[in-house]
Amino acid sequence: MSAKKAQRILKKDKPAWARTIVKRLREEYPDFECALTHRNAFELTVATILSAQCTDEMVNKVTPALFRKFPTPQALAKARTPTVEKLIHPTGFFRQKTKSLKGMAQKVSEDFGGEIPQTMAELLTLHGVARKTANVVLGVAYGRAEGVVVDTHVKRLSGRLGLTKQTDPKKIEQDLMKLVPGEDWIDWSHLQIWHGRKVCSARKPACDRCVLNDRCPSSTV
Ligand code: SF4
Repeated sequence: MSAKKAQRILKKDKPAWARTIVKRLREEYPDFECALTHRNAFELTVATILSAQCTDEMVNKVTPALFRKFPTPQALAKARTPTVEKLIHPTGFFRQKTKSLKGMAQKVSEDFGGEIPQTMAELLTLHGVARKTANVVLGVAYGRAEGVVVDTHVKRLSGRLGLTKQTDPKKIEQDLMKLVPGEDWIDWSHLQIWHGRKVCSARKPACDRCVLNDRCPSSTV
């Protein structure tokens, strides 16, 4: 199918295209899961804050030592700043991230009884937590879909797949929430992230082995 024809179909029925994407990527990646290693909502919140401008692989390398030393929000809230900075240094932006981690841990300890909150509104009151992190925590830790995670992979693929013309993550999320069925919001982001890593990479998308290449408007085959 030509890219032009694919574009026409997309305009006509983007929600059906979104459902097709979910179906095909679920078949392609039956064992997909959150790439950030964690054992609970606190660890996931920390890992997601650290993942800004950093690969999940690097985050997974630094978090075991961090969680061993500071296993709870209370422990992290009281941590010495230089100690945290040293532990998370490889993830980049370590000073800002340390402030975010300690600020988040303090708020969780003082205002939420040491438990990561379970609503978008409450999560957004935590230091260093914006919609992306809140959506990851709600979806993965609590199984609650209040929005769609838009990270760098979701952003890139949403444009390539013709689902949005927006570049601002909040606007992309709004477009995706209109197109993707609510029950698929949590899986959607995981599937897009996996597909972005394995096939539709930023530099060189492997359209020849992509299960979406017959309808993707950006396909090169
Ligand atoms: S066809 Fe190419 S551009 Fe489209 S999703 Fe697949 S790899 Fe990405």
